[in-house]
Amino acid sequence: MRRLRHVSALAIALTACATTGSTPPAAAPEAANQVPSQLPRGVRPLHYAIAIVPDAANLRFTGTTAIDIQVLEPTDTITLNAAELDFATVTADGGPAARVSTDADAQTATLRFPATLNAGRHRLDIAYSGKINTQAAGLFALDYQGEAGPKRALFTQFEAPDARRMFPGWDEPAFRTPYDLSVTVPAGQQAIGNMPEAGRELQADGSAIVRFQTTPPMSSYLLFLAVGEFDRITATAAGTELGVVTRRGAGEQGRWALASQAQILPWYNDYFGTRYPLPKLDNVAGPGTSQFFGAMENWGAIFSFENILLVDPAITTEARRQSIFEVDAHEMAHQWFGDLVTMAWWDDLWLNEGFASWMATKATAALHPEWEPLLGRIDGREAAINLDSLATTHPVVQHVTTVEQISQAFDAITYEKGEAVIAMLEDYVGETAWRDGVRAYIARHRLGNTVTDDLWGAVETAAGRPITQIAHDFTRQPGVPLIRVESARCAGGRTSVALRQSEFSRDRPDKPPLAWHVPVIAGAGGRPARTLVEGGAANLTVPGCGPLVVNYGQAGYYRTLYSAPLLASLTSSFPTLRPIDQIGLLADTWSLGLAGYQSASVALDMIDTVPATGNSRLWIRTAEILAQIKSMYDNDPAHQALLSRYASARLGPLLRRLGWSPRPGERANDAILRGELIDTLGELGDADVVAETNRRFATNDPSIAAGPLRQTLLGIIAYNADAATWERLRAMAHDERTPQVKVQLYRLLGSARDPALARRALELALTDEPGATNASQIVAAVAAEHPDLAFDFALAHRERVMGLVDASSSSRFLPGLATRSADPAMVEKLRDYATRYMTPQSRGAADRAIAAIQDRVRVRRDRLPDITRWLEGRRS
Ligand SMILES: [Zn+2]
Repeated sequence: MRRLRHVSALAIALTACATTGSTPPAAAPEAANQVPSQLPRGVRPLHYAIAIVPDAANLRFTGTTAIDIQVLEPTDTITLNAAELDFATVTADGGPAARVSTDADAQTATLRFPATLNAGRHRLDIAYSGKINTQAAGLFALDYQGEAGPKRALFTQFEAPDARRMFPGWDEPAFRTPYDLSVTVPAGQQAIGNMPEAGRELQADGSAIVRFQTTPPMSSYLLFLAVGEFDRITATAAGTELGVVTRRGAGEQGRWALASQAQILPWYNDYFGTRYPLPKLDNVAGPGTSQFFGAMENWGAIFSFENILLVDPAITTEARRQSIFEVDAHEMAHQWFGDLVTMAWWDDLWLNEGFASWMATKATAALHPEWEPLLGRIDGREAAINLDSLATTHPVVQHVTTVEQISQAFDAITYEKGEAVIAMLEDYVGETAWRDGVRAYIARHRLGNTVTDDLWGAVETAAGRPITQIAHDFTRQPGVPLIRVESARCAGGRTSVALRQSEFSRDRPDKPPLAWHVPVIAGAGGRPARTLVEGGAANLTVPGCGPLVVNYGQAGYYRTLYSAPLLASLTSSFPTLRPIDQIGLLADTWSLGLAGYQSASVALDMIDTVPATGNSRLWIRTAEILAQIKSMYDNDPAHQALLSRYASARLGPLLRRLGWSPRPGERANDAILRGELIDTLGELGDADVVAETNRRFATNDPSIAAGPLRQTLLGIIAYNADAATWERLRAMAHDERTPQVKVQLYRLLGSARDPALARRALELALTDEPGATNASQIVAAVAAEHPDLAFDFALAHRERVMGLVDASSSSRFLPGLATRSADPAMVEKLRDYATRYMTPQSRGAADRAIAAIQDRVRVRRDRLPDITRWLEGRRS
């Protein structure tokens, strides 16, 4: 899956996917013994035949599921997964009906048969009915306005683990079987499954029973079904049929995604060394949103919400176009890494997600080097370190036992730290050895299930050198290494460097450091040199006597702390460094300053040196840091004004140089920078930007109606809105028909700075007006500017707010709203919430929000004075 996060316009939605497989028919028998399970192991499924008859109007469906099973030990009782299913009849081998009891908490059903089932093959026939959800879990509905009135389309989302909401079965990734799926489709509608259609049987009422071809053996969470009035555009690449499926009338908006897929698929065929294994690959657009994910890698039928798949000229920005490519690349990487070879259990979710995230960046760098995606990888590293440097972090590999823990495992540690660690290991063994290891891993385990060490083993063999120790250090223990550069001496054209390893912690500065084996690269103007820091220290000699950059190229997952003279030298030579090191060094410096390892204002010294001709992504990071400082001056207008003056002086000339309109032949990332500069300056209250935005809004300028700046400009309008403006935006949202534009407009209503309007937005979210999946977006938008207000409101209307998000993730939604609070009182509120509504095993989301708030309070108290002094010094 692709998880969602917001760091900057360049930071893209992230997919999360997790998977595990069942006892594989072919490879990897060793994995089976290591797989935890929530179901008894005495019976295993061999094949499913599932027939679904949706009643979309009433949000119900009926189903029959026939399961061929292997009984390993004679039994009269079978327990399988089922959630919110009503059983009608259950028989084995056509015999008398079984008694069925269900356990809602465990999400299981237990079938008790009148006679013992002997060891061997049997067939279960189960007739039942279930619920069509209005959030993305199980079989779910998305409503939208079609040309001829309201429409409803159905989709499935089974990760993780929600297949049990559409059919009873062994809903654990290690149970890998073929599936035969059929669905009854109303007249005039289409159905999409993992496989091409195998047949269609017309019914007297005009409906049709659509049967799909049998899937290869696969995990339940990868099954997919969609039913609705669709367009499907297609292309062929490397002999595979590619499709983009949209609501009817929107097909042309899928052209960019389709062309992207046609670029990516042959590249993956080559990289993985195994051809894409299914006859077709669709990407199906859903008109709606989720708080928790953007896209999902169902085998042969990727699902994506429209805003991360379709290009709508009215609103799609350059950043979004790049995201669409990169999310597609992520989901397509899973078709091999995740779907063809599947994690045996959710403990190894990280490998699925970290790998797909890493692979997407790699493919994007190969196919669109002009976007400079490797520079963007630092955004991910920072998101991961932010979580990983607090006491509430967890190892990348984490033991998962409950459904709630599975859902909570989709976080920045799993995705972005996962990606960072893989990037570091690839850099350590070299691109070719890494690729050969991946090829061997895919070939050996295809149609099977694995654990993480299977990959390390394959790479070690290909590389001829050990990596498992390094990999274990970074995946089995939490936290972030700190590499202290203790000294660097130049002699004879070479720099001798002494390094010491400790640990970077924002909330436990005196914590005894963990030990890591850390691959380190350093450069000093000549060829970079490598070492492995072991046992807490290392020395290395680097050719050249220029400014010393440790973590040269930024592939390492660690922070680098320089001695004061080395840092001063780096700051003065900052403009001469390579963009990737500028961005990485600025990120390190800012973060180390906020954590108290050095003065928080050193990062501002660096920002002061960023040249006008600096890389767009460096400027974007600069703008983000200034916006972050602004939020620290909450309720302090005098200092906000001081900061705004500095930001206007620094960013304003750059915006004037770029202009407000695209210039012919400009670089793609300059278009992204333009939006970021307007956004940041607008938020900081830059007089020119606010005036120009207001002018455009008041005169109905075309850039407000459509185009790449529309969302940014409306964002500034919404942020500064008075009641009349807010109502005008609301009318625009209400009248909008295009789903992804509509959700953006509703989200904007939640972003007003005026608390009274923020409260009105929250109340609006509880009405039917915004639509089922848009309402939670409003609440989340309010939380960005008014976290305390949003949390208090959501708590006061808890039952109704929970109905706005999908069931499997709802418990973390409320704590997430409070994360940006700086009010110490919120800590107690969250503790109370966790005690009342979360289990001890699943309270991680509340604990992380508490840690983030405490960190924010600490930063404002202890670090902001440095920044204030620096800004005041600039005024004189
Ligand atoms: Zn994923």
